Amino acid sequence: MKIICIGRNYADHAKELNNAVPEEPVVFMKPPTALLVNNKPLYYPEFTEDLHYELELVVKIAKNGRHVQPEFAADYYREVALGIDFTARDLQSKLKKAGKPWELAKGFDGSAAISPFVSIDRLNRSAMEFELLKNGEVVQQGNTKDMLFPIEDLIVFVSKFMKLQMGDLIFTGTPAGVGPVAIGDRLEGKLHTRTEVITLLSCDIK
Ligand code: MG
Repeated sequence: MKIICIGRNYADHAKELNNAVPEEPVVFMKPPTALLVNNKPLYYPEFTEDLHYELELVVKIAKNGRHVQPEFAADYYREVALGIDFTARDLQSKLKKAGKPWELAKGFDGSAAISPFVSIDRLNRSAMEFELLKNGEVVQQGNTKDMLFPIEDLIVFVSKFMKLQMGDLIFTGTPAGVGPVAIGDRLEGKLHTRTEVITLLSCDIK
C-alpha cells in the first residue's frame, strides 16, 4: 500500500503559502508507517517547532490500474475518507529552500491521520464538502469542486508514472486555512453527506 499525496491542489492554499499555482499536479509520498488510525493522538515530534494541520479528502483506490484513461478514472474509487497531512512546516521550508525532497517534513510517523471510509454513494460526488475544527472552531473549509486537478485527473496523472493498486490512498490536497497546532489541541474533521454532517476524524495533539 502506498500513500500518494498531492500538493497545491487548491488555488487559495497555494496563494497562502506564496506558491505558484501549478500547471500539473505536485506529487509526493508518505510511507505506510505514517498512518495514524482509530482517532489516535499525535505526539508532537521533537524535530519541529511549527507543526501544521492540512485537512484533505482522501481517496481509496478500488482496483489496480496503470495508464488509466480519463473515461474510466471514476471507476477507480468507491470510498473516501478525511485525512490530516501533518507537516513540519519549519523543516519543510528549510528543505524547500535547499532544493531537497520534503519527505522528512511530511512522512514522519503519524503524519497521515485518517478517518474511517465512507461510500461515495452517500456523498455529492461532484462537490464533496468538508471542514476542520480546531478546539471547536472552524479553521478550514473545503469543497472538492474547487480542486485545480479533480480526483479523476489525479488518477489519470499518477497512473502514468506508477501503477495504482487496490488500497492505495491519495491525499488530494488541502484548501486554505492551514495553521499550527500546539500540545493540548483537538482537531476534528467533518464531512457533509447528502443528508447530514458527520464527524469522521478526531485527533488530539499530545
Ligand atoms: Mg497536504
